[in-house]
Amino acid sequence: MVTRSALIYLSRQDGLKEFAARFPPFKKLTTRFVAGETVDDAVAMIRQINADGATASFDHLNESVSHESEVDQEVREYLRILARIDETGIRSNVSIKLTQFGLELDSDLAYKNARRVVEDAARRGNFVRVDMEASNVTQVTLDIFKRLREEFGLNDVGIVLQSYLRRTYEDAEQLLKLPARIRICKGAYNEPPEVAFMDKREVDSNYVRVMQLLLSSGIYHGIATHDPKMIAATIDYAQLHGIDKGAFEFQMLFGVRRDLQYQLARDGYNVRVYVPYGKHWYPYFMRRLAERPANIWFVVKNMFKG
Ligand SMILES: Cc1cc2nc3c(=O)[nH]c(=O)nc-3n(C[C@H](O)[C@H](O)[C@H](O)COP(=O)(O)OP(=O)(O)OC[C@H]3O[C@@H](n4cnc5c(N)ncnc54)[C@H](O)[C@@H]3O)c2cc1C
Repeated sequence: MVTRSALIYLSRQDGLKEFAARFPPFKKLTTRFVAGETVDDAVAMIRQINADGATASFDHLNESVSHESEVDQEVREYLRILARIDETGIRSNVSIKLTQFGLELDSDLAYKNARRVVEDAARRGNFVRVDMEASNVTQVTLDIFKRLREEFGLNDVGIVLQSYLRRTYEDAEQLLKLPARIRICKGAYNEPPEVAFMDKREVDSNYVRVMQLLLSSGIYHGIATHDPKMIAATIDYAQLHGIDKGAFEFQMLFGVRRDLQYQLARDGYNVRVYVPYGKHWYPYFMRRLAERPANIWFVVKNMFKG
């Protein structure tokens, strides 16, 4: 737990971000979790993922953007991704972060920028998932999502909830009334006990409660996890309640539990792989290390291999 908090703390240090980006051995190791630096690197990976029976979601890495010009570049990058999806015929949607679209500068700016991307996706018959970030932006992220959802359809834009947050079950109930497509995940940031469950068992049991609520709603949701217990609970619940395999999708991260991704796809479940790419991989990469102590040993071992 201390290691996890320390790594998440380090993930937010800008000085280290600059250092890591310039340190070749570190950069090489990111290929385990990051699909490359350019949109075409990600397209190539997604072709392979599609060939293996899964769909994908693009994530252009660059969170907490603090200059308006950079924010505009992010919007353009997402418009480019949506165009590339159509040109190449790959099966993928996109995931965005509102801090990437200027949330820390001005929430209205983030809304307007997200709106530009959702509008383009809707026109193309594609879908935008709004990722959930740290708890200081949970409410504003939900507010912006609700505005978008009022303007666009159920199949144009969706949201993410995190089972480690105490508020999440109620948020899920409220969002289902819109209705909304939800991705449930456990949550990847450092949160205090006032807002989040500290005990893994509580995070897991809340995950199962929310998953059951989602599956019973009749709406197409994303069950994002690599945890075999969460996956088994989802499959059992669906079987018990006669919920079709095609009524929801499992979602996993690029480079994590590929065996499980292929297995579920082979078993006839919908599987979507979240595919991050771009130069600003440092915070994302550090959060992945934080999730599994063995990943740190993987990094250390490979650094000394040279
Ligand atoms: C598609 C997708 C989208 C996500 N979007 C968000 C989001 O918007 N906001 C957010 O806060 N979080 C997001 N996350 C991250 C999520 O919150 C968790 O941090 C992450 O998925 C680990 O949780 P877990 O459910 O896999 O369970 P855990 O209990 O963390 O892990 C269960 C098992 O999965 C394997 N595993 C998990 N992570 C790794 C890893 N990094 N490397 C190797 N093995 C691993 C291990 O075998 C581990 O024992 C997303 C995750 C996925 C899969």
